[in-house]
Amino acid sequence: MPSPTPRITALDTYDIRFPTSRSLDGSDAMNPDPDYSAAYLVLRTDAGDGLEGHGFAFTIGRGNDVQVAAIEALRAHVVGRSVAEVCDDPGSLNRALVGDSQLRWLGPEKGVMHMAVGAVVNAVWDLAAKRAGLPLWRLLAEADPAWLVAQVDFRYLSDALTPQEALSLLARAREGRGERAADLIARGYPGYTTSPGWLGYSDEKLARLAREAVAGGFTQIKLKVGADLADDIRRCRAARAAVGPDVRIALDANQRWDVAEAVSWTKALAEFDPYWIEEPTSPDDVLGHAAVRVAVAPVKVATGEHVQNRIVFKQLLQARAIDVLQLDAARVGGVNENLAILLLAAKFGVPVCPHAGGVGLCELVQHLSMFDYVALSGTYEDRVIEYVDHLHEHFLAPTVIRDGRYLAPTAPGFSAQMRGDSIAAYTYPSGGFWAADLPSGARV
Ligand SMILES: [Mg+2]
Repeated sequence: MPSPTPRITALDTYDIRFPTSRSLDGSDAMNPDPDYSAAYLVLRTDAGDGLEGHGFAFTIGRGNDVQVAAIEALRAHVVGRSVAEVCDDPGSLNRALVGDSQLRWLGPEKGVMHMAVGAVVNAVWDLAAKRAGLPLWRLLAEADPAWLVAQVDFRYLSDALTPQEALSLLARAREGRGERAADLIARGYPGYTTSPGWLGYSDEKLARLAREAVAGGFTQIKLKVGADLADDIRRCRAARAAVGPDVRIALDANQRWDVAEAVSWTKALAEFDPYWIEEPTSPDDVLGHAAVRVAVAPVKVATGEHVQNRIVFKQLLQARAIDVLQLDAARVGGVNENLAILLLAAKFGVPVCPHAGGVGLCELVQHLSMFDYVALSGTYEDRVIEYVDHLHEHFLAPTVIRDGRYLAPTAPGFSAQMRGDSIAAYTYPSGGFWAADLPSGARV
């Protein structure tokens, strides 16, 4: 029987792992054998409407159990809360989770604990959007700007962005919102694909997938680099020959280099006209990125998928260290912190090209870029969302790509919900796939 004041009754967790390392999908210079995984949670309520909030942190295999434990450490902040209160103001829960003084010691606002906060906060937004009957991008784009600003934690940001500035950025974008929403629904948001460029693929597979990407409408592809320079030169040559001169080729070193090596290696690949060099060095090295940027121009510098919070993004922008900001839907503290990051990027005039791929990251992050287009930056120019063509079949509302563009989701929610049979099969190590696959005693 529905409760008169519905509450969150459970936060259930799942350790879900996919055996992607066996096909070298996702392989790069730093991560040669990822098993794409989700530390997954479901918020259940006694509202009687059948709605749940789904969220997850993305990991690449070992340690997914640690990430699940971090999510479970937040359970007491969530269970028992009023559904209406948390959905009307996810920012209040966000502040409670970030502000748990004992758990804060494990960060602050970085690493496993912060990713757990992000997973829980994103699950609340999923539930809020389902209750509103809207896809999340639309809920955000139609929201009152003052309410959106109130969702942002400006602590540590006010030297770069004030609430008043955030409000004026959102107010400025109100003009033309309806036309942009219609255009987004008609055409979709530009994407680019990393599927051809995994380091473990042969040159033939790379060239074939690159040609298929262009034939499929993509105007940008990405190649992993950084393990061996001679290999990178050969692979870049093959890719450029496959796609011709007009398709953008981005390069991604996945943090492999020190600063000087990042500069020399990128310059050694300059003849293939790379559009950006991604994660040239440590994601914490703000000044290192700034030095690389100066040295490798006109090749752009991009980073963000491992940038741990809004404060490091603030510094990357203040130091003019990046040309392209690659926020990730599941790395920082959830939608609220990503609103802060989108606002910072808008203030500094730096395009956001989100990191995606993984498990469900394309599904999540499209909502943030679509909100940004309709109600904040107002432009697609030099903006593309990463796309990788695998694991989408495990989601109830998978991304839809047409002519190299992400079509706008229409289902209510954050597109975060995984299929029940996929959860059952890939729960580690007891799910159907792993139980059949792992010999007894081979649990790792
Ligand atoms: Mg990357």
